[in-house]
Amino acid sequence: MFRARCLYGEPCFCYFVRVKVVTKSAKETKEAAKAWLNPKFAGSGSGKATVVALIGNLGAGKTTFTQAVAEALGVKENITSPTFVLEKIYKLKGQKWQNLIHIDCYRLDKPEELLHLGWQEISSEPENLILVEWADKFPELFTHAEKIYFNHGEGDHREINFT
Ligand code: ADP
Ligand code: MG
Repeated sequence: MFRARCLYGEPCFCYFVRVKVVTKSAKETKEAAKAWLNPKFAGSGSGKATVVALIGNLGAGKTTFTQAVAEALGVKENITSPTFVLEKIYKLKGQKWQNLIHIDCYRLDKPEELLHLGWQEISSEPENLILVEWADKFPELFTHAEKIYFNHGEGDHREINFT
């Protein structure tokens, strides 16, 4: 669906326009995350996991974005970056997906390491929503993933590009 207001930079997340959002606080990034998630509840799904690559430097807001997605899906635990454990799985109740899986590739050196975490299986299960920080380290594994780009601006400004 195309809506003219996309052209003015408001988040509408239709398929035809790349949406850029500039947030001025972590709270605004969380609001952008929830606005991004909302239309996904309606889709029928692709028969595979919903895989989202979060791309951007340290401190750009990838984990903050994930925290808001988790919160919107009813996760009560405090979401932190899984930098040290690499992967965290949150069971969801009464949602479109049964699991929210949060992965951080920052400390991985080779795509095989992600494959050893069971990547082929988890990415093929439609009940999984998978958010992957630093997915751009292994682009060959994310050719079909939705990509969201985070850029650090001045101070608390962050530019988020939804593709
Ligand atoms: P990443 O996972 O990309 O390394 P984090 O989300 O862990 O980044 O960290 C972002 C940090 O920047 C947090 O401390 C957050 O509170 C702060 N912050 C300040 N402004 C923003 C903003 N506009 N969007 C997201 N985070 C922001
Ligand atoms: Mg992070």
